[in-house]
Amino acid sequence: MAGSLNTSITAWNGHGRIGMADNAFASPNSVARTVYHEIAHNWDEQSENRFVRDFRAVAGWFQTPFGINPNGLIPGNWERAAGASWSGWWFVDKNANLDGFAWTYGKENPLEDFATSFAAYVAAATGAPHAGNTFESPAAVSSRLAQRFSVLDEFFASMS
Ligand SMILES: [Zn+2]
Repeated sequence: MAGSLNTSITAWNGHGRIGMADNAFASPNSVARTVYHEIAHNWDEQSENRFVRDFRAVAGWFQTPFGINPNGLIPGNWERAAGASWSGWWFVDKNANLDGFAWTYGKENPLEDFATSFAAYVAAATGAPHAGNTFESPAAVSSRLAQRFSVLDEFFASMS
């Protein structure tokens, strides 16, 4: 997606290229986060990554026909994906807080959930703080995102 001046867009991934806007260079942490995030989008679909199904199960990502609200129909505290084009997607927001999301941007859709979690995982693996909604130590973010990181452990193990 191309941005214009004064956009909040930091980067994009498409057609085999990652583009980064000036916004991505606001701090060293955001540069690393953006690079990890965009690389992650190469494996955010089930056709690209056999662990996507397990990953999406952590947040309970669930698509309803016509965007039907599952609250009252299916047990759970369902929240609609924030991304407008993903309005048919829902997740279970277990405590109405950031919950196990790496960053609120992960609530946009399952692809951003994966990319934000992947970026947090790689940052933690390198001993860097996670630059999400707040800065978190590698130990703190690894604990908070334990379920997502467990799936990512399997994903990375499968690549070696
Ligand atoms: Zn993204």
